[in-house]
Amino acid sequence: ADERSVPDESRILVFVRLRPMGKKEKEVGSRCCVRIVNRKDVYLTEFANENDYLRLKRLRGRHFTFDASFSDTTTQQEVYSTTTADLVESVLQGKNGSVFCYGATGAGKTYTMLGTVGNPGVMVLAIKDLFTKVRQRSCDGNHAVHLSYLEVYNETVKDLLSPGRPLVLREDKQGMVAAGLTQYRAYSTDEVMALLLQGNQNRTTEPTRANETSSRSHAILQVVVEYRVRDSAMNVINRVGKLSLIDLAGSERALATDQRTLRSIEGANINRSLLALSSCINALVEAKKHIPYRNSKLTQLLKDSLGGSCNTVMIANISPSNLLFSETQNTLHWADRAKQI
Ligand code: ADP
Ligand code: MG
Repeated sequence: ADERSVPDESRILVFVRLRPMGKKEKEVGSRCCVRIVNRKDVYLTEFANENDYLRLKRLRGRHFTFDASFSDTTTQQEVYSTTTADLVESVLQGKNGSVFCYGATGAGKTYTMLGTVGNPGVMVLAIKDLFTKVRQRSCDGNHAVHLSYLEVYNETVKDLLSPGRPLVLREDKQGMVAAGLTQYRAYSTDEVMALLLQGNQNRTTEPTRANETSSRSHAILQVVVEYRVRDSAMNVINRVGKLSLIDLAGSERALATDQRTLRSIEGANINRSLLALSSCINALVEAKKHIPYRNSKLTQLLKDSLGGSCNTVMIANISPSNLLFSETQNTLHWADRAKQI
């Protein structure tokens, strides 16, 4: 039904994932304010027992529909298969892609991206799938898989696999690179979960809450797949694809979706990278010629993985609790806007 002038391949796919109600939320008597219907529709209600979907559909800002919407019982594997499996396939074909988790602090971004040892998330499942596919194709040529895991915090770039001094970004022939960033050559899935959990431990924490990752920290896993083979004339063919998997900072302080609001809060030292990402997405939505990638470290790092012919996937994470109604509504609005790209 969509009439778009842009080719379908340059579109952003947008998904929503609802997490289960937490123990604390139950204890304080939270009610569920989100309902997922038909794996696509999201209804937002202020009251627990609102069943009148037809009426809700007429209320602006209360009914949303996405490429797929995941209820609180959806498995990690299902989220991976629906959102990211196709990107892994195209990375093997030499195409870049990125997957973002967006949402308020506590909405389930890190669970979706990294997960736990028992329930690994998109990052781990993507690498696992990648290794399976590389092994199946090992007779066709040589594949090398390199991982880097970095953080953007307060416009400083840090190597999460080898923490030390901040990294400097510079532009070279391959695009923007972080000088000295660890490129970890990965051979099996088993080592990867441990590596990423360790890397996550290195994320910046607030001095007052040393065990909690700062809500302003972005974590970016980049997986580079290089494929090398000789053709019949013995020419070397080299194909490189890059997959970026991003656990974004909490969106609670950067909810603006239009340029005017963006500018007015820009001075207030709000997360610059998240705002810049919003600006880039706005510019992509409006099919602008100039996309302002240079405005932040995050967008500089993702310049070659966002827009153009890249595959981009957004997963908006939301909580079911009515206490977070307005944050959930803001996240859904943002996701709805991203859908228009
Ligand atoms: P965020 O990274 O967005 O701040 P987290 O991923 O840390 O949020 O999630 C907050 C809490 O909710 C964590 O304890 C996490 O384990 C739990 N959680 C989030 N999503 C799910 C889910 N789909 N299933 C089960 N538990 C979840
Ligand atoms: Mg987190």
